[in-house]
Amino acid sequence: GNALENAKLYIQSHRLVSDLQLINETSHKLNMNLSLDEMVVFLRNQLMKFFHPEHVGFVFIENDEYKISPASTDVFHTMEGHLYIQYVTNHFKSEKDSLFIADFNRLIESKYEYRSLVTIPLKEQNTITGFSIILHKEPYFFSFDNYKLMQSLIQHSSLAISNSTLRYKLQKMVERDHLTNLFARNYLDRFVEDAMESDDQGVFVLIDIDNFKRINDTHGHQIGDEILKQIARVIQGMIKNKGVSARWGGEELALYLSHMSLEQGVEMSKQLLVAIPEKTNPSVTVSIGISHWSRSDNLSFNNLFHNADTVLYEAKNNGKNQLCIYKASHSS
Ligand code: GH3
Ligand code: MG
Ligand code: MG
Repeated sequence: GNALENAKLYIQSHRLVSDLQLINETSHKLNMNLSLDEMVVFLRNQLMKFFHPEHVGFVFIENDEYKISPASTDVFHTMEGHLYIQYVTNHFKSEKDSLFIADFNRLIESKYEYRSLVTIPLKEQNTITGFSIILHKEPYFFSFDNYKLMQSLIQHSSLAISNSTLRYKLQKMVERDHLTNLFARNYLDRFVEDAMESDDQGVFVLIDIDNFKRINDTHGHQIGDEILKQIARVIQGMIKNKGVSARWGGEELALYLSHMSLEQGVEMSKQLLVAIPEKTNPSVTVSIGISHWSRSDNLSFNNLFHNADTVLYEAKNNGKNQLCIYKASHSS
């Protein structure tokens, strides 16, 4: 009797240790500021390793729509997988609790291939923001202990997941302009200010669309928006990693070209002057103002921007569709 008792205790303690390991390892990893995708992939692997399901799925609910995480295993990207997701989605419409199904075929008239199912909701405060599912063909495959452990694992991870979703959304909102997906002005400001602290030189370029009001009046605001997007694409394709581009205002875009000399910046701007009318439909031209700084001129960021703005105004006055370069003699 004693030997059997000891053996049982031994197995039990062994399991407790590995359960603790799972929770520990997971919370440690989730505290490392992973991106949402990295986090979900990690959790999927943990669920695989500890519960040996045949499939693992993660679903996020946003404005009543459900999105299947790309990290979910294959079946969830097929029609068959949708059946389980549909079932679980319906469940979470009226219930907030996890679901432990030992034999799916005893619940549903039609025959389902995967008979063991566990699903745990992801919660933000008291709202369900998604869920995780594990599946296995064999009925009664997952134990009740598995279920409790998975529940505690997912509950622990919920906060980290919603934090990273929020962080991602906020970052996108703050840094990027919605229409063009260029950076927002604030971001460029900070970027240039930093560059002026640490680099030796750089070029600032302001771009304003010519007669844009007329384009809007003739073709409608929506076409105007399309043109802004087309121009943003030309700019992004051209500067790649040579600098940063931003939506500076309504129809004004700005570029900062890191480490560039004035000549290099002018060269690039000339290319834009040619490419933009070619790549926009209906075709538009732009006017460009260029200013340069180097360590020895002691310029502030405000000076640099103001200089580009001054010569942009000049380009407009001289008949548009051209670039003007700020020369130090302007300052006299
Ligand atoms: P100029 O050649 O002197 O720059 O003339 P313009 O018509 O481009 O300049 P103006 O400043 O008179 O008008 C700017 C126009 O840009 C007016 C506004 O409707 C349009 N605009 C600003 N932001 C947006 C936008 O996000 N989408 C669209 N479609 N139009 C915009
Ligand atoms: Mg303007
Ligand atoms: Mg304009």
